[in-house]
Amino acid sequence: MDAKEKLRAYLEQRRELGESELVLDSMSVEEALRAIGAIGKGAPMSTTPLLEKKRDLADVERGDWRSVLSNARTPAPSESSSPVPPPEANPPSGITVAGEPEELFDSDIMRLSSLKTIAKAVEACTRCPLYKTATHGVPGAGAAKARLVCVGEAPGANEDETGLPFVGAAGGLLTKILAAVELTREEVFITNVVKHRPPGNRNPTPGEIEACSPYLVRQLELIKPKVIVAFGTFAAQTLLNTKTPIGKLRGEVHRYHGIPLVVTYHPAALLRNPSWKRPTWEDVKLARRILDSATGA
Ligand code: URA
Repeated sequence: MDAKEKLRAYLEQRRELGESELVLDSMSVEEALRAIGAIGKGAPMSTTPLLEKKRDLADVERGDWRSVLSNARTPAPSESSSPVPPPEANPPSGITVAGEPEELFDSDIMRLSSLKTIAKAVEACTRCPLYKTATHGVPGAGAAKARLVCVGEAPGANEDETGLPFVGAAGGLLTKILAAVELTREEVFITNVVKHRPPGNRNPTPGEIEACSPYLVRQLELIKPKVIVAFGTFAAQTLLNTKTPIGKLRGEVHRYHGIPLVVTYHPAALLRNPSWKRPTWEDVKLARRILDSATGA
């Protein structure tokens, strides 16, 4: 992808995010186009035919950056006294056309309008370094209107390979836990606090959690479940914004922005400590009761 393509992709992404305006510091459209080599560096402003210029301005006024860019002319050799160096070699001031993809701000994530756009954003995410070592982003899977959302910690090796949450041994146990309260994976939504695999399955760092949690926040905002089950310390402490140990958080109904939230042990921990299966069963039954009372079952 050359610089012009990258800028085009970036602008299209901004539009998909609902942005109609773009502030390019104090640069005019012509300066920006000139800077990315879309019009000749040496060409004076007046060499743009008036009609084209008017059309560009009309497009800009409509916020139609795609037209402006696609209408931009490649300079004829005679228009430019010196060849324009490739934009990547000479990034213009005022525009970031870097080798790395653009990072989304928290506010951009909060405007993502569906679970699908969140999934795409996760796949392209560079907000923390985990994307560098991961194979796939693992945004989550399940029903867009799920009544129950399961939140785990972070993808492991199987999840990284497939892009799907909880598909390894812990995932098998999670499927059984759900089945025990008559829920299928398809009717709930399963996700994690961190959407890329930490190398070697290490714990996610506070920075990684902070960078990634806006995706979870937005997923929950869109799904609006009747109950959330936080599996393990990281999910519980992140959603409840606390450092209280999981043992003390279990056994009561918390609230996440008004949504009842039940804390239980992580399925991977149950594989190591089978004696935690009984309390987990109690926790999940509690979540099921909340669900039934919320839906009048
Ligand atoms: N553990 C998690 O917390 N999440 C997964 O998706 C898999 C294992």
